[in-house]
Amino acid sequence: MRFAVLSDIHSNLSALEAVWDDLPQIDELWVLGDIVGYGPQPNEVIAALQQMGARSVMGNHDGAAIGTVDPGDFNPDAAKAIAWTAGILDGNARTYLAALPEVRREQAVTAVHGSPRDPIWEYITSTSVATANLAAFDTAVCLFGHTHVPIVFQATDGQVTAATARPGEKVGLVGRSLVNPGSVGQPRDGDPTASYLVLDGETATAEFRRVRYDIERTQRAMRAAGLPTRLAERLAYGR
Ligand code: ZN
Repeated sequence: MRFAVLSDIHSNLSALEAVWDDLPQIDELWVLGDIVGYGPQPNEVIAALQQMGARSVMGNHDGAAIGTVDPGDFNPDAAKAIAWTAGILDGNARTYLAALPEVRREQAVTAVHGSPRDPIWEYITSTSVATANLAAFDTAVCLFGHTHVPIVFQATDGQVTAATARPGEKVGLVGRSLVNPGSVGQPRDGDPTASYLVLDGETATAEFRRVRYDIERTQRAMRAAGLPTRLAERLAYGR
């Protein structure tokens, strides 16, 4: 089985379309939450994911947009964008978001937004947090997002190590792994191109991929929607 793994699309249709055009042959498309929030096209992104047959989990922004997650921890710009999103979501999008599970587990893969022990909110940013989370899932691989930074944490011989992956690089998954594809719609690792990965179950590899997209098209839509200026500007810097 080959999975395309996308996360943190954040209502950025231009970035999602570019990733779709870039996809190699795959069997399934998985999305690790934060489908909406920050960006200008929540309804269009959800309709596109439905057409693509994506299998998704819920992120903190998705829950906040439909009122099932408390946005109290959001910074002012994120909160403004969520309020805008909540006001513009159509019935189809609301129904889609409300049906998202917090955890998806199939074959040898678990998928969450934040972490397996706290799927909505926890950020896995260090080997110590990764180590604590290895006990919270029982498959070989756990896919996660939320930090918007591509990374692999692997446990071999009782040691947990972190590896950052360069674009086009295939990382061999030996031992149990926590794998983050980075963000499609709002990368934060200094590279503004859309980030995703292809997980190959047969070769046990994760191939990290980057795709250029029309950032200005998304920025124009954000300005037209009256979304916070800083949220549009950061897309150009990948921060
Ligand atoms: Zn996010």
